[in-house]
Amino acid sequence: MTKMTCYDLHTHSTASDGSLKPADLIARAIEHGVDVLALTDHDGTEGIKAAKQAAETGGLELISGVEISVTWGKSTVHILGLNIDIDSRNLQQGLSKLRDYRIGRAQEIAKRLDKSGISGALEGARKNASDVMLGRVHFAKFLVEHGYAKDINDVFKRYLVRNKPGYVPGEWASLVDAVSWINEAGGQAVIAHPARYRMTATKLRRLVTEFKAVGGVGFEVVSGRQHPEEIKTLARIAEQFELLSSCGSDFHTPDNSWVELGRLPPLPESCVPVWSTWG
Ligand code: AMP
Ligand code: MN
Ligand code: MN
Ligand code: MN
Repeated sequence: MTKMTCYDLHTHSTASDGSLKPADLIARAIEHGVDVLALTDHDGTEGIKAAKQAAETGGLELISGVEISVTWGKSTVHILGLNIDIDSRNLQQGLSKLRDYRIGRAQEIAKRLDKSGISGALEGARKNASDVMLGRVHFAKFLVEHGYAKDINDVFKRYLVRNKPGYVPGEWASLVDAVSWINEAGGQAVIAHPARYRMTATKLRRLVTEFKAVGGVGFEVVSGRQHPEEIKTLARIAEQFELLSSCGSDFHTPDNSWVELGRLPPLPESCVPVWSTWG
């Protein structure tokens, strides 16, 4: 019997807020039996070249991807771009603006933390980040290192979310822009981890409707750290809205023992996998 192809289409490296370098991520993916992996760093594609090279050497198929931060109404949602041409000018211009915005936001986060008595956060966060992308996880690591919280989850709860001292409401790309950049780059736009937004069913349907109207095609039905019941609900939405289904671990670090590369439940039978459209 032939082995089923193992897909993991949502992962992070040090090119955003992951802790493994692209080549090390690929090595770990191969060890864990992944056949097709998408590297989808937040708002940038800096890691793709190194990942491609490592993938070629190791015999894994690498999908060029990205995870774009989007502001939709009052919500932040994440849109994955799969199979993008990373040389697309429009895409890179858009991503570059988002990364610039991140620098200003980081300064604001640091200022707010400073007001609540935590100094040196910007420098501390920078030390945990590569040059290309500065995010909340880099602040979280600094805060844990300095004993302000016991782990990353704890920091988020106490400092980095709404109504907490280090929270800055994001102003990211619009939904139409993010999807257009992906489409112009020849990729497929996929709504990442739809259950994590904790939207009401009505609101999620509204998001999906708008997403489709601007050219989005995919829905991440299976994601790491997800309840089996959620898979069923999401699969039903994918079917109703005729969206292609994707699966990805959202792997960030080996320190998180409950999220591993390539260790995902299968897509439900009713789903049309996003890879069924790949040549
Ligand atoms: P940013 O795009 O800089 O606002 O950071 C978002 C990232 O923070 C996500 O991609 C996760 O990696 C991480 N994150 C968000 N919420 C949490 C949480 N509650 N616990 C741990 N990590 C989180
Ligand atoms: Mn992240
Ligand atoms: Mn995300
Ligand atoms: Mn992610």
